[in-house]
Amino acid sequence: VPDIVEVLLPDTHGVLRGKWIPGTAGGKIWTDGVAIPLSIFGLDIWGREVMETGLHMETGDRDGICRPVPGTLTPVPWSPRPAAQVMITMHEPLHPADGRGGERPWELDPRHKLARQVERLATLGLSPCVAFELEFYLMKQQPGPDGAPEPVFPARGLARQNMYAMSDLDAYAALLHEVRQAARIQGLPADTVISEAAPGQYEVNLYHRTDAMAAADDAILLRRLIDGVARKHGLRASFMAKPLLDFAGSGMHVHVSLMDRTGTNAFGKGEEGEALLRHAAAGLLSTMADTALFYVPSFNGYRRLVPGSYAPTGISWGYDNRSVAVRVPNGPPKARRLEHRIAGADAHPHLVLAGILGGMLEGIERKLEPPAPLVGDAYSTETPLLSPEMGEAIRRFAASDFVARAYGAEYRRVFAIMKEAELSAFQRSINPLEYETYL
Ligand code: GLU
Ligand code: MG
Ligand code: MG
Repeated sequence: VPDIVEVLLPDTHGVLRGKWIPGTAGGKIWTDGVAIPLSIFGLDIWGREVMETGLHMETGDRDGICRPVPGTLTPVPWSPRPAAQVMITMHEPLHPADGRGGERPWELDPRHKLARQVERLATLGLSPCVAFELEFYLMKQQPGPDGAPEPVFPARGLARQNMYAMSDLDAYAALLHEVRQAARIQGLPADTVISEAAPGQYEVNLYHRTDAMAAADDAILLRRLIDGVARKHGLRASFMAKPLLDFAGSGMHVHVSLMDRTGTNAFGKGEEGEALLRHAAAGLLSTMADTALFYVPSFNGYRRLVPGSYAPTGISWGYDNRSVAVRVPNGPPKARRLEHRIAGADAHPHLVLAGILGGMLEGIERKLEPPAPLVGDAYSTETPLLSPEMGEAIRRFAASDFVARAYGAEYRRVFAIMKEAELSAFQRSINPLEYETYL
């Protein structure tokens, strides 16, 4: 029996919340569930309630019943004491007054948004095959002299470009091996590991899976795993989208193909497969500005979308092109897929994937055709712009018919309110440079 069982619930912002339950009481959660306030999904990123969402005091802030997700119970290898973890998902009690029982999935749990898109695809006889890539910085626990975070290879000038440098893997080999080992123990299919472009920046890829929910769970759990292992080595791992203005940001690329009923990649089936791929890409492009808030949900994230950074700035697609938003990588028919390159590493994987599958469905159902694939450098080609800042992304999201149809009008309302609260907190704070310049 482990000392504790950690029950894990990713909130609206992709922050893991939950609690420790004594190991001896761990069995009970499978029958009784875990009580957590429904308002957990109506908190801003600092964990304060956003009153306008109307989820809290109006209802007396009732408890939801969280049910453990089968197949997610695993050991926690980086814990100092024997520990287990399990993902949970929120349900709303139907009759809280008389204990009659009965419950339904809680509208605001992002898991249900993803489940809905997977169901919609299933009615077309399609099921997604998904792989996430995660970029991150290894940082020192203490900030540098100027208060900025300090990556493990302090950036002296702009010269350090260590894309694929084996020396950077060698330097943190013990930590990276422990990440792979912990992933193996937890059943997360960690695949390749590389040193990314910026000082102290790495990337871990997950192998593709045919269970979309499990793939999103893996991505959110991998962030915690990497940080958990990094702490043991006296460091932190940061998935902040753009921690250093002069260096590459961290992205969360998502590779998606669609399987038919026989388990064959539908994108790889000749002419018909290419048509399906074009429709899916067209749907991603036509819904991209409306759902940008799912992919780039933070004030900081918009700083990542700059020309030349390998993060996209325009709404574009292309074959084997790293400067576009939706890339079709080279490969054999059975691996034919789209790589969605917009999301920052700080995004909520379930919402990112819900956004992608919803966009693909839109294109497939309406048989949309994309513009000509972009050839060459997307940064110097005129394309429609992705939302250049958070305010515009919020406005597009809040006014989007597509968002209401695919994810629900209530979700559209609550998500936009929370993100508005986040944006206004940043807009209301005075940047130190303002004092230096104007005081
Ligand atoms: N770091 C880039 C981003 O922010 C991606 C680099 C790459 O192509 O892997 O999305
Ligand atoms: Mg990368
Ligand atoms: Mg990639």
